[in-house]
Amino acid sequence: MPDYIPTAYDHALDAMLAAGIDRPRADELLLAVCALAVNNHESTLERTRETVPDNPKGPGKVTYEDVQAYPYYYIRGEGRKAAEASRCDHDLPLTDSCPVCP
Ligand SMILES: [Zn+2]
Repeated sequence: MPDYIPTAYDHALDAMLAAGIDRPRADELLLAVCALAVNNHESTLERTRETVPDNPKGPGKVTYEDVQAYPYYYIRGEGRKAAEASRCDHDLPLTDSCPVCP
């Protein structure tokens, strides 16, 4: 068993060195990519927090407008079961895409 398992960073660094990019420049580029990934992750967390409704509706009580206002929460988040048990004006679960709703 190797005492060091290469990370994605190591593989990317090897590839850049093999492509003739010098070590300081390669490190600089990889650090920029890491910073970008961290920023993306943080802004995703922020968006997720923002999209939780103040007063989440229960099963059967969710409206089409609720899902439009908080799509992450009602489609992918904790509110999915409540939205699934609620119907649009055309009797489809709010988690399905209705061909008639806008
Ligand atoms: Zn509908």
